[in-house]
This record gives sequence, C-alpha cells and structure tokens, in this order.
Amino acid sequence: MSQEPLQPRFLSPAVAETIRARHGTPVFVYDLASLRRGIDGMLGFPNAFGLTVRYAMKASPTGALLQLFTNAGLHIDASSGHEVHRAARLGIPHNKISLSSQELPEDFAELHGRGLHINACSLNQLDRFGAQFPGGAVGLRFNPGAGSGGNNRTNVGGPSSSFGIWHEWIGQAREIVARHRLKVVRIHTHIGSGSDPEVWQRVSGMSLDLVRQFPEVTVLNLGGGYKVARMPNEKATDPQVIGEPVAEKFREFARETGRKIHLEIEPGTFLVANACSLLTTVQDVVSTGDDGHEFLKLDSGMTEILRPSLYGAQHPISILPKSPTGRARDYIVVGHCCESGDILTPAPGEPEQLHPRRLAEAAIGDLCVIDGAGAYCAGMSAKNYNSFPEAAEVLVDDSGEPRLIRKRQPLEQIWQNEIPLPE
Ligand SMILES: *Cc1c(COP(=O)(O)O)cnc(C)c1O
Repeated sequence: MSQEPLQPRFLSPAVAETIRARHGTPVFVYDLASLRRGIDGMLGFPNAFGLTVRYAMKASPTGALLQLFTNAGLHIDASSGHEVHRAARLGIPHNKISLSSQELPEDFAELHGRGLHINACSLNQLDRFGAQFPGGAVGLRFNPGAGSGGNNRTNVGGPSSSFGIWHEWIGQAREIVARHRLKVVRIHTHIGSGSDPEVWQRVSGMSLDLVRQFPEVTVLNLGGGYKVARMPNEKATDPQVIGEPVAEKFREFARETGRKIHLEIEPGTFLVANACSLLTTVQDVVSTGDDGHEFLKLDSGMTEILRPSLYGAQHPISILPKSPTGRARDYIVVGHCCESGDILTPAPGEPEQLHPRRLAEAAIGDLCVIDGAGAYCAGMSAKNYNSFPEAAEVLVDDSGEPRLIRKRQPLEQIWQNEIPLPE
C-alpha cells in the first residue's frame, strides 16, 4: 500500500539549507513563481461581462502577500473588521476591500464611510446597516441551500451552515431593504463548490435566480472554494473548465433580462495553498517497539499547521536527508506540542487515527518539508501553544533568493500583555 517517498514541490535541498542557515526552522517558504501562476489562473477566469478577483485574505494574511496580490490587480475579501484594518494599513484603499463577516464590526459605519463594500451576512446585519445608512448601497450574502437534484458537495452552504441569509428568508430580507430604502447592488454566495463544473454551473444558476429578485444588482460574487491538489491523488480545479459554463449562465441571464452582471470571485486556497512549504527540522526519532510505530518529531506542528489535527487534512511530507541511506521507512510524523492530537500524518479525514507515511529514512537534524502549507496554516494555527513563538516567513523569488517577510516572533511578545500580580 505504501507509496514511494515524495520530493518537495519546489524547494531544492540547497535553497532549503540556505533558508535554515539564515532564518532557522520552522519557517514558511512562499514561492513567487507559484504565486504568479495562481494569480494568472484566477485573472484568466472566464467571464461574460467583466471580472473582479478578490484575494480571501484569511487564507494567509501576511502583508507582503496582500501587497503582491493587490499590485497584480486583485482586490481583497476580508472576513472581519480587523482584517479590513490589516489590509488598509498597507495602503490598500477601502473601496478595494469587501467585508463578508460572521460578526459585523463595531466600526462598520466608519469603514463603509471610507469606501468599504459590505455584504450583509444575516438579517440582523442587514437591519443594522440599514438603520445606519438609510437609502444606502449594500450587498447580500445568501446561503442558497444545497440545491436540488445533484450531489451535495457543499461545505459552507446548505441547512447545516450558518453563513449568509438562508434563501427561504428572502421575503424578510426584502422587507428590511424596503423599510430602510436600501439599494441591493451585489449578491454574494460562497458555498465551496470544489472542482466540478456541473456543480459550479448549478450554483451560479441558483445565485442568478437571487439576482433576478433584486433589479438593482450589478455584481454577483460567487466566493471561493476552488480546490487544489495538495496530494498526488487529489484533483485540482481548472478555472477554465469550471468558469466557462458559469460565463454561459451569465450570457443566458443577459439574453433573458437585458442585465449584464459583473462577476466577482474570491479565491483563498487556490492562490496560496501550493505556493508555500513549511520547512522544519526533525528534532527527534523515537520508536514504540515491534507492535508500535517509528515517530519523527518535528520542531513544528499544530503551532504552524493545524489542519491535519483539525480535519485529518493530508499534506505532502518529504525528508531531505543530510546523509541519504537510499532506504524508505513508514513513519508517524508528530509535532512538538505536548498534545497527543499534534500529528501530521492522520488518516485522511480522521484526525483521531494514526496513518503511517512512507518517507526517506530520516535522522535527527534532517530537514523535513511539509508542502501545500500556504492556505489556513500560518494564519490559522494553535499559535503560541506551549509558548512556541510564531514562525518566520520568507518569499523566494526567481533567483532562489529568500526574502524575509515575517520575522520569527520574539519570545517576549508572547507575554507582553500580561499583568503580573504585585510582589
Ligand atoms: C474563506 C472564504 C473564501 C475563500 O475560500 P477558499 O476555500 O480558501 O477559496 C472566499 N469567500 C469567503 C466569503 C470566505 O469566507
């Protein structure tokens, strides 16, 4: 059953050694060429009447990435008021940022006054917006349901998801809109439709049905959820393949209604997931005997990458042995936290279960590369657990030169807000 050991996606042993020597491990390494490919893929998304691509910054919110994406012409999707401030401090204008949040921030009125686009994600949010901006322009995020007929592949849509206004409450939404004389200019749906063109076409049809109900809407935002293949057996989304049937739906809608709707998309994962590797060091190797396992302990773990512990997510792992033996072995790879859930090789979708991985034989001190670590890793981890400081981040350009884009967190920062009891 075991597959043969993988090679790192883009890190060469020489560049990896240079980065460790200069910046230490664990360190997130972003690859500029891969980031550019993702940008080109999304900016080329088929569309009938114009396209805006927003980077869903929660996937990885480091400033240098936001600058890179906005310099390339992308706009920003923020998931909280704090993310809006984080993007704005880099000089990104508020009118290039849109907010779709589970929690409408206290200062939403001020942010909207500066140009921030707001998508009301619940009836309560819509009412609060309307009370503050009677006659104002707003977007509505709907949960269009799982749809009928086809397979249910959604993970942020359907009755088990709290994101957006449930489609059956459209009457109540219209009532709030009318009460505050609001102008609904944008419809938003984000249901994580994956890589299947048939699902995308169905979702865009359902979303256009919502657009039909609001005559002033000029923009339909279909969110993100473009899956990537981290592991060799996974299927990646081809933007051309899923986008063409969506563009056709928009053309059909225009023929029928005379309305030319502008498309917005909000990729997070697609732009960063495979453009970043987490570079770590094997800091111990232990065995639990003949009926047990061989464990590799990294100097990283859930403090940088939580997805395996959380969802049983699979990430490619490769060893760069200092002295290659040419042999491969089955290992359980674990993190450095005193927490039995800190594991990098769970069974797929089963975070509770150990699943040995075939890797090049490893020794203490060897480099270990965890690939597909660009999305929901640095930005979503058990940061500072066991008081491990936040990892450094570097960006490698075409010449292989690593540029530091986030310093390793100084230890003192972990306790700087604490207030000790008096002596
Ligand atoms: C998280 C999120 C995205 C990005 O999702 P990916 O799966 O990373 O592409 C886009 N839009 C909204 C509203 C989100 O919350």
